[in-house]
Amino acid sequence: MDCQQSPSDQAEHCDFDLTDQDLDGDTLREECGVFGIFGHPDAATITALGLHALQHRGQEAAGIVSFDGSRFHSERRLGLVGDTFSRADVIARLPGTIAVGHVRYSTTGETILRNVQPLFAELNAGGFAVGHNGNLTNGLTLRRELVRNGAMMQSTTDTEVILHLVAQSKRNRFIDRFIEALRAIEGAYSLVSLTNKKLIGARDPLGIRPLVMGELDGCPILASETCALDIIGAKYIRDVEPGEVIVFDRHGVQSHKPFPPMPPRPCIFEYIYFSRPDSIVGGRSVYDVRKAMGAELARESHVDVDVVVPVPDSGVPAALGYSRESGVPFELGIIRNHYVGRTFIQPTQSVRELGVRMKHSANRAAIQGKRIVLIDDSLVRGTTSRKIVKMMRDAGAREVHFRIASPPITHPDYYGIDTPDRAGLLAATHNLEEMRQLIGADTLAFLSVDGIYRAMGEPGRDPAHPKFTDHCFTGDYPTALTDLTQAEAQPRQLSLLAEAS
Ligand code: SF4
Repeated sequence: MDCQQSPSDQAEHCDFDLTDQDLDGDTLREECGVFGIFGHPDAATITALGLHALQHRGQEAAGIVSFDGSRFHSERRLGLVGDTFSRADVIARLPGTIAVGHVRYSTTGETILRNVQPLFAELNAGGFAVGHNGNLTNGLTLRRELVRNGAMMQSTTDTEVILHLVAQSKRNRFIDRFIEALRAIEGAYSLVSLTNKKLIGARDPLGIRPLVMGELDGCPILASETCALDIIGAKYIRDVEPGEVIVFDRHGVQSHKPFPPMPPRPCIFEYIYFSRPDSIVGGRSVYDVRKAMGAELARESHVDVDVVVPVPDSGVPAALGYSRESGVPFELGIIRNHYVGRTFIQPTQSVRELGVRMKHSANRAAIQGKRIVLIDDSLVRGTTSRKIVKMMRDAGAREVHFRIASPPITHPDYYGIDTPDRAGLLAATHNLEEMRQLIGADTLAFLSVDGIYRAMGEPGRDPAHPKFTDHCFTGDYPTALTDLTQAEAQPRQLSLLAEAS
């Protein structure tokens, strides 16, 4: 460990060995964000801004497709939105008043250009682009059937089956073709689509992934989260409802409900980690819900300590809620370096062994000699939590307790989240005491499933009618998992897809 004394501010920063595992290396990653706008002269620029606000939903690649009244234009790039779409020459190649965009984090299909969305194809019904947030649980099965019937796949994403299903539909109207395709797919999807006349949005019947409607200068917008409306000063209209297909064209807006009604089950992890704290999801402030989770955690498993320390950034609201409920002071005991991004300084192995810390440092002034409780949003593999506990001890904390503002993750996801398979989930293979010993904390506790439902304003979880998709904690998958049962393969979408490509 390497510490520098600075007598002037009575502080000492200690950097510690985390080698190449950064503090964010042990968390679930959301797969993708979508945005679309109809009828605006700066459609591509506004879409780029919306995607920038959704960057937390996917950092691997971004794409925009626009239509200028006669031609479609597509720009797809690996990398961050700001690296690509901040360039005037790129935006200039996207003329038109309708545009859709996508930011990507891959769960299905490799990180290669042909998998970057929106995917576009010229169909006999005209040009069609689609951007997808979520994951289809029968994508592989449909893909095999389509390939058997002669379809030629251009990507290894599950999303591409939607293009082929629309292309193969015998229906006359485009919207009927689109709805016929939706009836064939299963799993989680929030879609933005573009034709030469329409902007179309759709959400799966359970509403697992979010999708909202907004308006700017009278022009309708679709976006994964309200934070993408805020960045451009657009007005929030409403959420696209679960099972709704919404169409914008020069005649106005049409709403279709092609599925039998069923109780919605939005993904509860959107509140725990995925959505930005300043977003309103399903009518709830993500920030307020996370504070409520922290307060529930304090009510369920408080421990006698001197300070509450969040694991930044996602642990901050829960730590605030915990601090207010328990009356224990809140302190920033871990300082995050927000300028790491795509770590431009790649330390050599020898430097790394010196313990250079890229993203986070211990703030000794806040924790030395103190009994602390660390608050984080979730625990997946446990590698990061172990390093954080070591960091606090090395920086002089007297006791280090750990509280997780969500239940133990025991089951992998199939709805658009990159989770390890069960063997890689610490809580699926270790009991509480084993996990405590492994991360080296004095005590460890998770928020209960009922506790997280109470934080959402529910009395608890009703097993007969659960209000949320929560199977990473409960194993209660809300839809059939056709690919899995069909393939009887290991539970990892990527490996399933590798078979087909
Ligand atoms: S497993 Fe379910 S609750 Fe967990 S992240 Fe995935 S969709 Fe959300």
